Amino acid sequence: MMILEKYEKKRNFSATPEPEANVEQKGENRFVVQEHNASRLHYDFRLEMPAEPNSKEIVLKSWAVPKGMPEKIGTKKLALEVEDHPVSYIDFAGVIPEGNYGAGTVKIWDQGTFELFKRDAKVVEFILNGTKLQGRYSLVKTHYGSRGNSWLITKNSPKAVS
Ligand code: MN
Repeated sequence: MMILEKYEKKRNFSATPEPEANVEQKGENRFVVQEHNASRLHYDFRLEMPAEPNSKEIVLKSWAVPKGMPEKIGTKKLALEVEDHPVSYIDFAGVIPEGNYGAGTVKIWDQGTFELFKRDAKVVEFILNGTKLQGRYSLVKTHYGSRGNSWLITKNSPKAVS
């Protein structure tokens, strides 16, 4: 599968204001949380990083967080992995018109940078330096559900050691 192919196939770029599926070669370790008021309100959490741990193509690895990001230490929320998004999506806010994938309103809820500590197929650990979200977080893949895309995002103690 080509990088960002899933993203591209779900969208018609003459009908949605979302950015086209361009892959970048450089990243700045940024993150975004977008409040997405679609058929169901959810929050999209995206980390700017290589599509695979050792690849050179930079994308936004993306998770839909139905109940919002954890803000208190020790809390965790379900995070459903979704298709990689292009880096330029990090600044996207606007209205996705009816009839398009993800139709509804997208607002930037938080933005910033992150420091990565660990990344493999089942664990991503990082510190977020955002306006609302700050501190140590982990994403851990779970066995919940049948689609293989369930993770838990946890706000960890600042002293947590990986
Ligand atoms: Mn979404």
